[in-house]
Amino acid sequence: MTWVRSLAGRLTLTLLALLALAGAAFIGLNVMATHLYLQEVNQKLNRDLASHIAESDLFMRGGEVNQSALKGLFDALMTVNPSIEVYLTDTRGRLLAYSAPPGKVVRERIDLAPVRAFLDQDTVFPVYGDDPRGSGRRKVFSAAPVFDDGERAGYLYVVLGGELFDSAVQRVEGSYILRLSLGVGLGILAVTFAAGLWAFSRLTRRLRRLSGAMEGFQAGGGGAGVPASVRSGRGDEIDRLAASFEQLTSRINDQIAQLERADANRRELVANVSHDLRTPLASLQGYLETLKLKESDLTPEARRQYLDTALGHGQHLVRLVSELFELARLEADDQQLQREPIAMGELAQDVVQKFRLAAERKGLAFDMEVTGTPPMAEGDIALIERVLDNLIDNAIKYTPKGGRVRLALEGVANGLAVRVSDTGPGIPAEELPRVFERFFRGGRRYPQRPEGTGLGLAIAQRIVALHGSDLEVSSESGRGTTFAFVLPAASA
Ligand code: ADP
Repeated sequence: MTWVRSLAGRLTLTLLALLALAGAAFIGLNVMATHLYLQEVNQKLNRDLASHIAESDLFMRGGEVNQSALKGLFDALMTVNPSIEVYLTDTRGRLLAYSAPPGKVVRERIDLAPVRAFLDQDTVFPVYGDDPRGSGRRKVFSAAPVFDDGERAGYLYVVLGGELFDSAVQRVEGSYILRLSLGVGLGILAVTFAAGLWAFSRLTRRLRRLSGAMEGFQAGGGGAGVPASVRSGRGDEIDRLAASFEQLTSRINDQIAQLERADANRRELVANVSHDLRTPLASLQGYLETLKLKESDLTPEARRQYLDTALGHGQHLVRLVSELFELARLEADDQQLQREPIAMGELAQDVVQKFRLAAERKGLAFDMEVTGTPPMAEGDIALIERVLDNLIDNAIKYTPKGGRVRLALEGVANGLAVRVSDTGPGIPAEELPRVFERFFRGGRRYPQRPEGTGLGLAIAQRIVALHGSDLEVSSESGRGTTFAFVLPAASA
């Protein structure tokens, strides 16, 4: 049953039905054509039969039917050619005499129009006339006028396919021609059918393989792909189907991989977040509990110190949570940038101003360097300021006293290059690839590691990426670190 419902099965059945239809039409047409041809040949061959007979004797004499002449004729015909029937009519088609046995003839007159058509020189054969026996079938005939004393007195009407002829023709048609056409027809149909089956199975083989591959994929076979034999290289429908299917599977696989990555990231994030929140929260709670327990035993300085530490942990928590939110917002797919032209010189100046005091307090040289006339940049000014804040904050934070921090701007081919460099301890090569990771905090080497959340560079990198650029880092241990990115120039 499944074969009947398959494409190959339905194609085969359709082919079979079409072939049967074509075969029947072929046989029917053949039989009809043969029949017509036989009638035509019969009538043409016997075209002059009636006139020969009419000329052989005087069948009408003095306005009367010459019975003796007719009897002689009928007797002769009975022996010579019993398959023909001869009728004598008057000029209006009324039957006057006939060779058929009495009682067999049921009509009294025949239509003369076909007779006149037959006598016309240009007539097209076969011409059918009435059968006086009333068989209901039209018959081929031969006809000739009969004269009486030089006047047209009637017609000799010779039915060529008489009763005997009919059965003879039927025998011939029924036996030989029909069998021949049936045999040839069935042979052709069988060969065509076999060829059709072969062609269908070839044509649908690729489809079957493709659907097999699809079922395999659906069953969880993953990236098995489409077998090479499905492709014909001609770019036909199946090729296109295979290509679409491959695109589809690769997209689905990509998306699955992406989902798995996202899921892994999410787990890691949750683990990191809970760890990073738990530590300062536990400390905060610890200090507050100690304060409560030992309230009366503590000196005012110790109490203030405890409170300061607790406050510090509280502030760290606030910063961690707000940076996490910021990063989550930046990573949301629908993050929209408020793009506008940015005069980077002015923005940089403001940022330098903002950090000048912090740098001075730490004993660092802090300057800005502008090469040439940098073009206007384009981007989200608040977010770009956030990047500068993070990079400069890090540079000041990680560079020891006596060092130098520099913010440099330079026009480049594809926009405006921004660089933040310092003369700090640098980032060890093994940490370098990880500095942009969320929650990554390097620098166990610092005697006292500066405060931080490990989110600053992740946020900066995400913002730069949203501007279509890349935040790059280069660092040499002991000699300093440079972070750089290029902003697109504002379109005129
Ligand atoms: P953090 O809050 O720790 O500063 P960041 O994401 O801003 O987090 O930086 C990640 C890590 O990269 C830092 O912990 C530090 O080890 C390293 N780092 C960043 N900037 C510098 C710099 N200018 N000099 C040396 N190390 C740096």
